[in-house]
Formats: sequence, structure tokens, C-alpha cells
Amino acid sequence: MSNKRFSLALHGGAGSAPGHDYAVEIAHMRGLVEAARDRLAAGASALDVAVETVVALEASGLYIAGRGASPNADGEYELDASLMDGATTRAGSVAALQGFESPILAARAVMEQTPHVMLAGAGANAFAGAQGLKTIADPATWFTHAGAFEANHAPELPTGTVGCVVRDGEGRLAAATSTAGVFGKLPGRVGDSPVIGAGAWADSHAAISCTGQGEFFIRTAVAAQVAHRVRFGGERLADAARAAIEGVADLGGHGGLIAVDHDGQVAMPFASSGLKRAALLLDGTIFAEAF
Ligand code: ASP
Repeated sequence: MSNKRFSLALHGGAGSAPGHDYAVEIAHMRGLVEAARDRLAAGASALDVAVETVVALEASGLYIAGRGASPNADGEYELDASLMDGATTRAGSVAALQGFESPILAARAVMEQTPHVMLAGAGANAFAGAQGLKTIADPATWFTHAGAFEANHAPELPTGTVGCVVRDGEGRLAAATSTAGVFGKLPGRVGDSPVIGAGAWADSHAAISCTGQGEFFIRTAVAAQVAHRVRFGGERLADAARAAIEGVADLGGHGGLIAVDHDGQVAMPFASSGLKRAALLLDGTIFAEAF
């Protein structure tokens, strides 16, 4: 067992519905943080823990990503995901992926098995199939959320994403993000989640995963902006993360982010009706909340 210090944060999307009871999601997120803590204590890498955690968030069906995805305006499920390894700045992403259980595993395969960073649409589907990733036999029975969407989500923020950021015991950082995008989106619409620098970023200074109205996050390059504020501006992570989210709000956007820095500090600011989130702090404290 490594006794080195580590920390992490995860999210289940911005935009919690006022009055909705998120006890199930909070307990689920807490359990994932505990599992991630045990993996990090055993020496697992930030990248592995970030991906494993997002796979579990996707598979749960509790969030608007992976199995819990919402359909686009044509009733089709087009999913986006990305990840970045801070130690190497290697990155992978998929956009408008259809027919696979875990978009984040497809993004990891793009990073590890191709010279590219991003694959989209039919090409992403063909690649994921060639990688032998698990396919969805029947979308009508696989996806869990379509009917329950409005009850579970704040009216001003029809979105849903999951993500995880990790600082491991060796000081390596990683970020992973996966989403169904915004509810009722146009076919082919791609948000911030698979855009490296907008919905996810990791370097040697900070790792960030975003959630919210993706167009605003792309326009302000939120994830890279946070890391660059820390790296080039010398800002504290909490200040950098808050400033980036305020930039989204200034444009009229809603959302939040989770971030961890090279010292293991965690920040989880949001400008939305809530942010389903959980974290393991350096002192071992676990935090899980929806508002
Ligand atoms: N950011 C995602 C998107 O715009 C949605 C979300 O975070 O809920 O696709």
C-alpha cells in the first residue's frame, strides 16, 4: 500500500432540481469515492482511477450520461466523452458516438490505439466496434432515463454529464468526462465534453472536468483556462476555478466544474441550481452533495 497523499473529485452533472431528493445519487457517488480511494491507496494511477470511476458513473444509469443518457431531437442517443492524462498530456475523445455502452472507454482507446485525439460519428462507431467495445443490443431497453428526465433535472439547465479528476500518490493528474449532451439537442450537436480544453483538461498543474451548457464552456475554454490560470497566472486553484465559472455565468450560461491541482487541492464551484458532486480531500475527508 502506498502511503502517499492523493485526492479526487467526481460529478454527476450540474443542474439539480430544487426539492428533488438526491439521496440515491449521493450515496452512489460516496461509494465511488471510497472505491477510488482504495484503488489509489493500492497504487493505481490517476488515469486508471478517473476512467474506472466514469465507467461506473456511466453504467449506473443515475446520471444523464452512459446508460442514463437522454436522446437528441430525433430520439437517437449520441454520446460524447473525453479524457486527458496530465503526466503525458496525451488525450482521447469521441463525439456523437452511437451504440456503445461506455463512451469513456472508446475515448481511452482513441488515445491509446490511434495517433489521433478525437473521432466523431460513423468513424468513432466503426473504431469502437473494431476495438471490441461492448455494444448496446437494444437502445429501447438499455437506456434508463428518457421518461424521468424532467422530474430529475432543473428546468433552466437541461443537461447532464459525469466526470472525475484525480491526483494520485505519485502526483500525477488525470481528468475524464462523459455525457449525453443537452436534452433535445439537434442531431450532430457536439458540446464541450469531448472538446479537450473545454470539457476536460489535465496537465502537470491541474485536472478539470466540466458540466453545464457546453456552448458557453467551449466559448470560454473553461477546463484549460483553469489550468492555465494556475500554471501561468499563479492563481490558487479555488480562485482559478471560480473565475472560470464566473466567465460562463457572465455570458448567461449555467454549469459547474470539478478540479484538482498538483498539490491535491480540490475545487468544485458552480453557477447553476446545483452540482451533483463528491470528493476525497487530502486529509481523507469525503464530501458528497447535490446542492
Ligand atoms: N456540458 C454538456 C454538454 O453541453 C452537458 C452537461 O454537462 O450536462 O454537452
